[in-house]
Amino acid sequence: MSAKQIVRNSACLNTKSIGPKPKMLPVYKDYLPPCNQHCPTGNDIQGFLALVRDLEFKKAWQKLVINQPMPAIHGRVCYHPCEISCNRAHTDSPVSIQQVERMLGDLAIDQKWAYPTVNEETNRKILIIGAGSAGLAAAYHLRLAGHQVEIRDANPHAGGMMNYGIPAYRLPRNILQQEVEKITDMGVKLTLNHKVTDIVAEKEQGEFDAVFLAIGAQIGRHLKIPMEDCGPIMEATEYLNLVGNDQGPKLGKRIVVLGGGNTAMDTARVAKRLGAEEVMVIFFSDRNHMTAHEFEADEAEAEGVKIHWMRNLTSIHGTEFTMDIMALDENGDAKPTGEVETLKADAMVFAIGQDIERQLLSGVENVELTPDGCIKVNEYMMTGHEGIFAGGDMISSSRSVTTSTGHGKKAARNIDAWLRGGVYLTEEKHQVVTHDMLQLWYEIDSNRNPINEVAVAERVKDFTEVVQGLTMDQAVYEATRCYSCGNCFECDGCYGACPEQGAIIKLGKGNRYKFDYEKCTGCQACVNQCPCHAIAMSPVSDIPFTLKK
Ligand SMILES: Cc1cc2nc3c(=O)[nH]c(=O)nc-3n(C[C@H](O)[C@H](O)[C@H](O)COP(=O)(O)OP(=O)(O)OC[C@H]3O[C@@H](n4cnc5c(N)ncnc54)[C@H](O)[C@@H]3O)c2cc1C
Ligand code: SF4
Ligand code: SF4
Ligand code: SF4
Repeated sequence: MSAKQIVRNSACLNTKSIGPKPKMLPVYKDYLPPCNQHCPTGNDIQGFLALVRDLEFKKAWQKLVINQPMPAIHGRVCYHPCEISCNRAHTDSPVSIQQVERMLGDLAIDQKWAYPTVNEETNRKILIIGAGSAGLAAAYHLRLAGHQVEIRDANPHAGGMMNYGIPAYRLPRNILQQEVEKITDMGVKLTLNHKVTDIVAEKEQGEFDAVFLAIGAQIGRHLKIPMEDCGPIMEATEYLNLVGNDQGPKLGKRIVVLGGGNTAMDTARVAKRLGAEEVMVIFFSDRNHMTAHEFEADEAEAEGVKIHWMRNLTSIHGTEFTMDIMALDENGDAKPTGEVETLKADAMVFAIGQDIERQLLSGVENVELTPDGCIKVNEYMMTGHEGIFAGGDMISSSRSVTTSTGHGKKAARNIDAWLRGGVYLTEEKHQVVTHDMLQLWYEIDSNRNPINEVAVAERVKDFTEVVQGLTMDQAVYEATRCYSCGNCFECDGCYGACPEQGAIIKLGKGNRYKFDYEKCTGCQACVNQCPCHAIAMSPVSDIPFTLKK
């Protein structure tokens, strides 16, 4: 051993020495990227993007379906909170994560890739009530764990709101059906046209060991206002349900949709496609207060839907709709100004929210409600009734396909643990890596691909899918835009920056690197250049290592 190394080693050992003593040494770390943190299904986004970058498409899809089985669906309808939080957005634009996911989902359908092999049969039976995204996701994860699963649904088609809410121009039904089929192909039994009215009786008669309730929130809310001699009045869920069953009603030439959420925007856009000449949305506040996503309102307006902001509907007489003109007060609340306005319309659709069907739960002992009228579950997704779990829109949460899919996964893991006599324990999450923690010392000029859409004049003619996916090349390009926030992607930057020969050892593709602390001086050059913040300096006393004799 050289004199230099003896000095270094004794410094690390914190014994007496004559040279400089590094107090801190580098360690490779794994952080949590914000995209992953914000995906309600817990997708390993960075992981599947890295595989796409390496052209390993099947492996990328396999990584995706560890967490959620419906990438072609989520690649179309998810509100992609992953992209909203993507660190790359601070540089130019977020990685098009959702579109890459869609490409993989479509490829899996095309190539008929099968889900992972089901575990050894457990001979335990689970009844799932509701074949929406929560029920389907739970069925997938429970079946993978080796349980017998049956889903019962009141409707003639599976998919819940994905079939009876989200219009086909955003989610083509053949895509939905094919991902549902993939789940039933695993051996999940799907019984349609079966409305459950007595949960406990069906559980006992079918000898089920557990039940997962996923009946959604299907009851459209109504507003009590004076209405006289008016045309057809419907609720959005009822209207879209008819559309989902290919019986979309033509309510009239001029249609009003009441509400400011995504359902209102979809209902208006559907009415346009069904031939209404004039479609108007009435919303009591301004754009900043609508619950619809910005893009949903933009697309509705682009398609010719007129949104009457700051108008509160007060009565309908024949074809005359009377509205208070509203103004925001100092707290930002919409208040009537005393002035009124009228418009003419032939029919109206309420799109002011949905409630859950509580009737089904009324006879089930110990099931409690939350203050917002949803079903109360504990941290293990179990209701107050032992063995009956719930998730999706019927429990308190932000209502979306992806949140419900995430609930399905979480419930399945908890049901599985409960059936095995334990509880499901989650691992502690790593620290999140934020944009300011990255060392982006290099120049980049690679904005994201624009998302192609069918031209407005064309798309309003029918239910053709509006958003066109990325080509495989574009998806690969998007994957290469990922910074790999917080996790080493073997760029060799640290290796190249290290002034001490042999202080960083390459372990071969996929195995990253390791430090040789006998040679490392703790100069921090590797840390300072690591673009993805996968190395951190740590006190010497916290690093376990053995010195050579
Ligand atoms: C118009 C509209 C557009 C939307 N757009 C989007 C979007 O773009 N992106 C997004 O993420 N989210 C969107 N959402 C929200 C999303 O669709 C829901 O949050 C999600 O699908 C709910 O899933 P779920 O499984 O909890 O319930 P649901 O999808 O509602 O499924 C419940 C199922 O239970 C069945 N059921 C009910 N009662 C019984 C019973 N007694 N017996 C047997 N079966 C029963 C129903 O038939 C149904 O199939 C939209 C919602 C609407 C209404
Ligand atoms: S499911 Fe949604 S949030 Fe999750 S990775 Fe896909 S697009 Fe992003
Ligand atoms: S750059 Fe990549 S790892 Fe970082 S947040 Fe975006 S998608 Fe996730
Ligand atoms: S650059 Fe080399 S010597 Fe400097 S801290 Fe990193 S591994 Fe140690």
